Amino acid sequence: MARRSKQTESPETIERQWSPRVSAALLERLAARAAVSAVKKTIAIEAPFTGEVLGHVPHGAPADVVAACAQAREAQQEWARHSFAARAAVMLRFHDLVIDNAAEILDIIQLESGKARRHAFEEVLDVAIQARYYAHTAAAFLKPRRRQGALPLLTKAWEYHHPRGVIGVITPWNYPLTLAVSDALAALMAGNGVVVKPDALTPFSALWAAGLLEEAGLPQGLLRVVTGRGAELGEPLADGADYLMFTGSTATGRKVAGMGAERLKNSSMELGGKNALLVLPDASLRRAVPGAVCGITSGGGQLCISIERVYVHAAVYDVFAARLAESLRAVRLGASLTFLEDMGSLIGADQLSKIEGHVADAVGKGAEVLAGGKARPDLGPYFFEPTLLAGVTDEMDLCRAETFGPVAAIYRCDSVQEMVERANDSSYGLNASIWTRDTRFGRELAARLQTGTVNINDAYAATWASAGPMGGFKESGLGRRHGRQGIIKFTEAQTVAVERLLAIDTPPFLSHQQYATLMSAAVKLLKHVPLIK
Ligand code: NAD
Repeated sequence: MARRSKQTESPETIERQWSPRVSAALLERLAARAAVSAVKKTIAIEAPFTGEVLGHVPHGAPADVVAACAQAREAQQEWARHSFAARAAVMLRFHDLVIDNAAEILDIIQLESGKARRHAFEEVLDVAIQARYYAHTAAAFLKPRRRQGALPLLTKAWEYHHPRGVIGVITPWNYPLTLAVSDALAALMAGNGVVVKPDALTPFSALWAAGLLEEAGLPQGLLRVVTGRGAELGEPLADGADYLMFTGSTATGRKVAGMGAERLKNSSMELGGKNALLVLPDASLRRAVPGAVCGITSGGGQLCISIERVYVHAAVYDVFAARLAESLRAVRLGASLTFLEDMGSLIGADQLSKIEGHVADAVGKGAEVLAGGKARPDLGPYFFEPTLLAGVTDEMDLCRAETFGPVAAIYRCDSVQEMVERANDSSYGLNASIWTRDTRFGRELAARLQTGTVNINDAYAATWASAGPMGGFKESGLGRRHGRQGIIKFTEAQTVAVERLLAIDTPPFLSHQQYATLMSAAVKLLKHVPLIK
């Protein structure tokens, strides 16, 4: 990140070149993409690596959300008439553009979120995977299907899936590309328009993706990004959109689900987690230790599906705890726009103070620090070491509350049953990870865990990147993203039935009594007729 020489800078505009690829001019162009008219105020975006101002985006007002929803709705009318093949062609061009321009978006993600490049790369991969997946599957998921009619031969029925209209997507700062784009891709493939409200800390990735989607052929206005504060823009988005796709904290999710409920609009909530990793006595520690490090440190632990609780069978506890602590101490922290670092910075001051608070509270009440435990201001203002704590008890904040940082508590368990009970003893139910050589038993155990995803011999990526549904039990969410459910939810289902010859009612030549007798006999016979499934 080199600063241009003083001589070339005019006093009014200091052109900061953040990387070979990301200049102030590029960030200004991205900010200009925001669907905000008559910009009265701007929001300064901080670069967590240094604490400096990266750039500014418009502070959108409620009227901007109203206008964005109207634009998306207008563009959607035409888009809904496009064939699946035409929509898929846009998605596949976008897929290629994301991969071809990965270096630029990796820089942007890193600069606005502070995460390590390897974690930013997960977002690029994810967006490409989702674009390809829905390009190739949407038609099969959403095409009209024959359904069982009331009376064979007399009734023919079909199920249709129509776009809902405009999908409002509200996203957090932790995975600013993935979370702003992946659900939007499914919504677009289903024929909807989209209005994205990215977090005010990390708007540039969403703006970048909106530009690339247009370059890939998405009609103008179909996907709008309104930058600004969620507390101001949530209500107008709930008014203007037909469905709310929210990713963020459980506390805000409750509010947004409430906004939808008041308006009788459906919503999908992808919320917080306090995810457990279980190390069974037969686990390969050679794989489980790096697996746990990955689960604790991904995105600096600021990942909804990252690991914050580690339950280890007593048979392997001492060896595993020692090796995990050693591996966490070896994690390379740093602020470069290269793949050299294992973990980057936290997002900012609030997150740092929350994590420091959880660790200080635990240590003050008797927890033992096995690794890390400290901020690293020598690397940047918001760096915090990967941290492992033992002796964590119920009265400590980090025992149950989501820390959302690279901090995990490790617990010794005497039986697998105890591990399952403790893992389930949480108000959250997002993700879990099981390490065992007996994968058949691992799958049986998974069925006993109250979480939306369970990864066997992986921390989180195996389920996330699969085509299975992704979401939370309990207070971790409502609804699912990915796979069939991840696109069906963006549609209104409609059943159309055609009745031939006779309506389902007493015909004029029978009495109601005769009709009832005839239908009873017919229904008995129908038990033997195969159904359309
Ligand atoms: P947050 O709930 O504070 O903010 C999320 C989004 O909601 C932001 O865009 C914010 O501007 C907006 N918002 C805030 N108040 C609003 C309101 N009143 N109405 C409408 N929108 C409002 O969450 P955060 O702190 O940014 O993100 C971290 C949380 O997100 C963690 O709890 C994490 O577990 C969760 N998360 C969940 C998933 C998942 O897939 N389950 C993924 C990533 C993050």
